[in-house]
Amino acid sequence: MRVLVLGGDGYLGWPTALHLSDQGHQAAVLDNFARRGYDRELGVDSLVPIEDLDTRVAAWEEVSGQRIASYAGDLLDADFVYQVLREFRPEAIVHFAEQRAAPYSMIDRQHAVYTQQNNVIGTLNLMYAMAEIDPDIHLVKLGTMGEYGTPNIDIEEGWLEVEHNGRKDRMLYPKKPGSFYHLSKVHDSHNLEFGCRVWGLRVTDLNQGVVYGQQTPQTIRDPRLATRFDYDAVFGTVLNRFVIQAVLGEPLTVYGTGGQTRGLLDIRDTVECIRLAVENPAEAGEFRVFNQMTESYSVSEIAALVAECFPGPVQVDHLENPRVEQPEHYYNVKHTGLVGLGLQPHLLSDTLIESMFDIVAANKDRVNLGALLPTVRWRGGLKNG
Ligand code: NAD
Repeated sequence: MRVLVLGGDGYLGWPTALHLSDQGHQAAVLDNFARRGYDRELGVDSLVPIEDLDTRVAAWEEVSGQRIASYAGDLLDADFVYQVLREFRPEAIVHFAEQRAAPYSMIDRQHAVYTQQNNVIGTLNLMYAMAEIDPDIHLVKLGTMGEYGTPNIDIEEGWLEVEHNGRKDRMLYPKKPGSFYHLSKVHDSHNLEFGCRVWGLRVTDLNQGVVYGQQTPQTIRDPRLATRFDYDAVFGTVLNRFVIQAVLGEPLTVYGTGGQTRGLLDIRDTVECIRLAVENPAEAGEFRVFNQMTESYSVSEIAALVAECFPGPVQVDHLENPRVEQPEHYYNVKHTGLVGLGLQPHLLSDTLIESMFDIVAANKDRVNLGALLPTVRWRGGLKNG
């Protein structure tokens, strides 16, 4: 299939494009390189060096014989989006191209506005382009498990059967997200469901858990194919950050009690989930939701696991939680959709923490220690007086 990967220069978009290309799909990537710009703004960099997109694409052609077309541009530029869809004529689009860090969206008003504008308007431009050029394109859109928050009831896959005053309906599952970033994904989900209902678009919304790991069978074929590995308190996701802190001999920074439970998945499962969703499209008019996670752990359990696997002493520090979130809560998530399509998860218990230690050790001179501690507070972005 012809598959366009939006955000194809990012942590997950690049390995996904490689995986799809390796599986025989004709892949193209689109990116505006905003992510590399946030690095410059925050004074951080991927722990593992990454090449620019042209070098990556050329390296993949050299290694695999497969060509990945690349488009440099912004989803906020509607003319560009229309032009790419007309030129590449995708059968499926995988949409990763959003600002994805909750702390970044909570820095201040400007960053909240940027995040919601970038994410919501970019997706809206894409929806219009699809509806006007080819409504048959299947959109695989990355959402997040953070859209649901931590309700005190079971989390279903996107939809909830509701009985109210003796009547029943199937409603979008109610959302209680924890940041302006997560809210942008909720707004996207509602816009997309509307597009399916009104224009007959076909969409799969993947509510993805927190991803860990840095290597896939394709990225390890050449160092020029490496994907990014973030460790800073703004973009570094929790398990990746703990692994890096352990290797550097820095304390693992658990926010608050560490009782916050989150859904997780291995980067190798992310790319496979996308392939499964692409190859098994939603029906015309269907807004299909999968919870893309394989298991849940509390932040304290993740810290304990990293400490247990690391062959040396590890200190765990409990910092005052910069976020506003429930310290302890119920968390029971349905996630059978992707397994039903054939996903065979890599679980954390029998997986790669040890191999991540080696990746970090090889690059530890690149770390900016000052970036490890949280500076963004959920109530700190308000300028009162
Ligand atoms: P990333 O920031 O590494 O990649 C996103 C890419 O999109 C970047 O390369 C960026 O330059 C590009 N981009 C952003 N705005 C754009 C625009 N307007 N036009 C064109 N390109 C644009 O993020 P990631 O970790 O690869 O995450 C990808 C997606 O998966 C995001 O939507 C994110 O919300 C979702 N997700 C990620 C995780 C995770 O743990 N990494 C968890 C849940 C969901």
